[in-house]
Formats: sequence, C-alpha cells, structure tokens
Amino acid sequence: MKSYERLFIDGRWVAPIKNGSFETIDPSSEQVIAKVAAATAEDVDLAVKAARKAFDEGPWPRMSGADRAAVLRRIGKGIRERLQELAEIEVCDNGKPLPEALWDLGDAAGCFEFYAGLAEKLDETAETPVALSDDRFTSVARKEPVGVAGAIIPWNFPMLMAAWKVAPALAAGCAMVLKPSELTPLTALELGSIAAAADLPPGVLNIVTGLGKDAGAPLSEHPGIDKLAFTGSVPTGSRIMQAAARDIKNISLELGGKSPFIVFDDSDIDAAVEWIMFGIFWNQGEVCSATSRVLVQRGIYDRLLARLKEETQKITIGSGLSDGVLLGPIVSREQYNKVQDAVARGKEEGARLVVGGSRPEHLDKGYFMEPVVFADVPEDSWVWNEEIFGPVVCIRPFDDEAQAVRSANDSRFGLAAAVMSKDNERCERVARALRAGIVWINCSQPTFTEAPWGGYKQSGIGRELGEWGLNNYLETKQITRYNSDKPWGWYIK
Ligand code: NAD
Repeated sequence: MKSYERLFIDGRWVAPIKNGSFETIDPSSEQVIAKVAAATAEDVDLAVKAARKAFDEGPWPRMSGADRAAVLRRIGKGIRERLQELAEIEVCDNGKPLPEALWDLGDAAGCFEFYAGLAEKLDETAETPVALSDDRFTSVARKEPVGVAGAIIPWNFPMLMAAWKVAPALAAGCAMVLKPSELTPLTALELGSIAAAADLPPGVLNIVTGLGKDAGAPLSEHPGIDKLAFTGSVPTGSRIMQAAARDIKNISLELGGKSPFIVFDDSDIDAAVEWIMFGIFWNQGEVCSATSRVLVQRGIYDRLLARLKEETQKITIGSGLSDGVLLGPIVSREQYNKVQDAVARGKEEGARLVVGGSRPEHLDKGYFMEPVVFADVPEDSWVWNEEIFGPVVCIRPFDDEAQAVRSANDSRFGLAAAVMSKDNERCERVARALRAGIVWINCSQPTFTEAPWGGYKQSGIGRELGEWGLNNYLETKQITRYNSDKPWGWYIK
C-alpha cells in the first residue's frame, strides 16, 4: 500500500500540521486502500500563502503563454505515460470500470494538451484594441489571470474534474489550491508528482486532501483566494457561494442535475435503449449530467420499456478491474444507502419498478446493486424531481412535443437534456426550447473538451471547458491612453 500521507504545498510533500489522516476505501472490496493526509485550516493557509507567493512574485503569471504551454504539455504527457497505472488507482478508489477510467485519464491528458494550445494563443489574443467614440483616446482590453484560485472537486470523475480546473487555471497564469474529494483523493495526489516532474514552479499548484468541513470550508473562506471553482452538490455549492459573498470572490459552480431525455416515437428503439442506458448507467449513474428522467412518446412506450428491461438485465456487474464489467460498485457505503433509500422511496411514491434494485447474488462484498428502471413515475414524486446520483432511471410517457418540452423544463435544475427523433427539424426546435446548458441530439453524454460545459438554473454558474473554461480564470483589464497634446479642459481652458 503506497503512502498518501503528505500534502503537496509549495512544490514539496509535507505532513499535515496536525498529522491527521483518513482512510480511502475500495468500494468493490470494502477494504482500506490507503491512508491519506487530512488537511486542516492551518495547512490550507500554508497552501494559499504558497500559491499567493507563486502568483504575486513567481515566474508563472509573467511567463509567455508558450512557456506555460510547454509545462502543460509535459503534464499531459506525464499522465499518458502512467495511464494504465493511474486508471487502476482510479478504479480502486472510485469503483468505475477500467475502460471508463482509461477514458477519463485519456481525457484528462487531452484537457492539459487542449489548454496548452489556448495558452499559446493567449500570447496573440490577450490584448485586443477597443474602438472608442473619442479619437483623442486609444484603448486595449487585456486578459490577465484572475490570481489565486481555490478548486474543490467531487468524487465521480476524480482526475478528470481536477484536469477541468487545473489545466485552464494554469493556462491562464493563475496559481491554484486544489481540494479533491475525501472519497477519491489518490489520483489528484499523483497529479502533484506529475506536475512537479513537469517542472511546474513551486507553489503554482498545491494539493490539500481532507474533509469538506476541515479543508474545503477553510479554502472557500480564505481571504487570500481570488476565485473559487467548485463542482459538487447544490447544498455545498450554496455554502461555497455564501463564503465567497463575504469578500466578493469570483466564483464558478458546476452543480447537480436531473436531466431529461425526450424520445419521440419515430426513433429507432434499439438506438434509443442504448443511449438511455449509457445516459444513466455509465459510471454507475454517478454523473452530474446523467439523463435520469426519460420521457418516451406513448406510441413506443411499452415496446421500449420491454427492450430496456431485457438489456438492463444483461449488464455485467462487478469489480471495475474485472473484464467485461459495465457497472461497478457505488462509490461509498453512504452513497449506496442514499441510492437504496431513493429506490424504496420511488416504490412508495407509486413508481412501477420494471427491473433492478437488489444486490447481485454473486457479489457478497462491495457496494453493488442492480441497475434500476422505474416506469410510470409520478410527475410530482421525489424520484422524478431530485438527483439520485446512482444507476436509477425514471421514465414517463408523453403524448405531444409541447407536453414533453413542458415536462422536461419543469425542474429546478438545467444542466443537460437530450432529444431523439428521426425528424431533424423537430430535434433542432426542441433543443432550442430546452432550458439546459448542454443539449444532445440523438445521443446522451458525449463530452468534448472544446465545447462549453455548465448549467442553467440551480445546476450552476459559469461554464467550464473550451475557451469558456479559460475565461473562468481570466480578468479583463481596460488600458486607455490619452494621446492629445491639448489640455483636457476641465479647468485649463
Ligand atoms: P459534495 O458537494 O458533497 O462534495 C464536493 C466537494 O465539496 C468535496 O471535495 C467535498 O469535500 C467538498 N465539501 C463538502 N462540504 C464542504 C464545505 N462545507 N465547504 C467546502 N467544501 C466542501 O458533492 P459530491 O457528493 O462529491 O459530488 C456529487 C455532486 O456533484 C452531485 O450533485 C453531482 O451532480 C455534482 N457534480 C456536478 C458536476 C458538473 O459538472 N455540474 C460534475 C460532477 C459532479
């Protein structure tokens, strides 16, 4: 068992001041896989001070974008060189199937490479002239790094969520303190080693593992932080926003969802079933953008449910390291109980259990459950409206387009949505009518580093990925010059 009892602060591995640690557990065996350093407010303070010094006095924000890009590329390469090993660590920490972990790690490397490209572009695009209405003046708008960013991330895509924040922040020239989830802290710590080996200057990236209340809260409240970037649940997001409000920190939030998937009755049923399953069972349904509410047009409702039941029963459940597994364990005992409670609640609320919910017979250890399909789910039920964050899909029939769009939009969330039909015009029309930050047509979930990611309504504030993600970590400065020899004329005429 490798030791993870150090924090990464100012380019060095240091023990937490109070010497605390916590355990991280493999959800497929319920065994402890590592003891991990537990940071407290004192460690967070050191990490923020190191980041402050790196930003205020160090080379990083003053380097050319091209020089920063070279470091980002080396980080991407460092991830690729250890792809298999890092993916296996991710599987043991989170539970996901190995092929999905390999995807995540490849995407994380790709994210560093993509933002390396944008860092290089910044050398040409950081300053743009602004046309003014008074020709005695000239002006430029200049993009500058926002400063020291604090990033707090969840457990469902540990390394990828780190990459979505660290890569654009570093590309912009920011320094960062990263707080991974206490459930899945291991790959984030490995990222510290990879960044150091890539010659990232000390203090530019600091990694503090620890509990939300002990390490996350002090980070969100620290006056030395200029920007907070958070991905996680709505209640924690709201707390972070309140902390940020105290000293008006710049903030971006990626929160939960209850994303709808509308399937019209001209759709190919097999294709619909595959995308529905991928949309909710991929990554055990522990996906913020999971299409967990499915609206199926009445003409194909019964046939689609029958096919979905048949295919759902075929899903291989087991340890993420076993061949052919499509569904790993739920990340933790607590999350497993939450999902089980939600299934019980769905039954009480009158949703029809089509299939799933039990512990698979061949697995006596681990937080495993059969994926769940609920049909005829009442529109006012808790399971239809709230995020379960597990492999549970809720399905309802609809009659016409207007009803489907109304039902899809009737949510406090607005992260993602999907629509499927052979009628392209209808898909385009519905996509524009849906109140969500991401809309998929004839698919669900494919995510691209180049395209904006984020939610409407309570699903968040701001956008990650693409150039939008870089802008999260940039301030805009106006530099305006008076070019005339003549006095301004306020008192000298
Ligand atoms: P969570 O809110 O419980 O925890 C997220 C992070 O916040 C963790 O690192 C945790 O330690 C920290 N934290 C907890 N309490 C804190 C506090 N008081 N102050 C500061 N930090 C604190 O969320 P989770 O259970 O890890 O993740 C699941 C949630 O994340 C789901 O709601 C999911 O939809 C959401 N999510 C959203 C996206 C997106 O892109 N929109 C992506 C992934 C996950």
